[in-house]
Amino acid sequence: MNIVFLDRDGVINKFPGKGQYVTSPGGFSFLPGSIEAIKKLNDNDFKVYVVSNQAGVAKGLYSQKDLDAIDRKMTEGLKKKKAHVDGIYYCTHSSDEKCSCRKPATGLLQKAMEGYKGNSGCVFFIGDSMVDIETAKNQNINSILVLSGRVKLSEQDTWRMRPDYVFDNLLLAAYYLCNHYGK
Ligand SMILES: [Mg+2]
Ligand SMILES: [Zn+2]
Repeated sequence: MNIVFLDRDGVINKFPGKGQYVTSPGGFSFLPGSIEAIKKLNDNDFKVYVVSNQAGVAKGLYSQKDLDAIDRKMTEGLKKKKAHVDGIYYCTHSSDEKCSCRKPATGLLQKAMEGYKGNSGCVFFIGDSMVDIETAKNQNINSILVLSGRVKLSEQDTWRMRPDYVFDNLLLAAYYLCNHYGK
């Protein structure tokens, strides 16, 4: 079974801005093509998991309830186009809590992969930040950077690490994955 991990903000929905958070469903809007991308991955038998740091909860900027409401907006938006994600995993800790789930730590990935017992096929992580790329490297899986969020191509001289692939957005990444690894 091939698996795709997706960061959320800047990949599926509009990046809220550096140091900003999506604090309510009103702040969540899908990026163009992201629903179609997830549908394509679904149709090509990829398992799709959302893996996101949401330290705004630890900071008291929004609650777990708000996060659940945002999830409902996301899953309902996907459902309307017959798309779905297979799981959503958040780290809601702050960086000084030193948890094992805040990316670039791999706790959330390991949780999502528990059921596969090493039987996964190709595994990819698609994110819009260097922390996502670092997470993929820490887990020894393929990293894909999309330019629809935090990181711009013009900043590539300052990138902390090299992603395996770079695409403008999730839809183009999904096309690539489906063409090469789809059914
Ligand atoms: Mg992001
Ligand atoms: Zn955590």
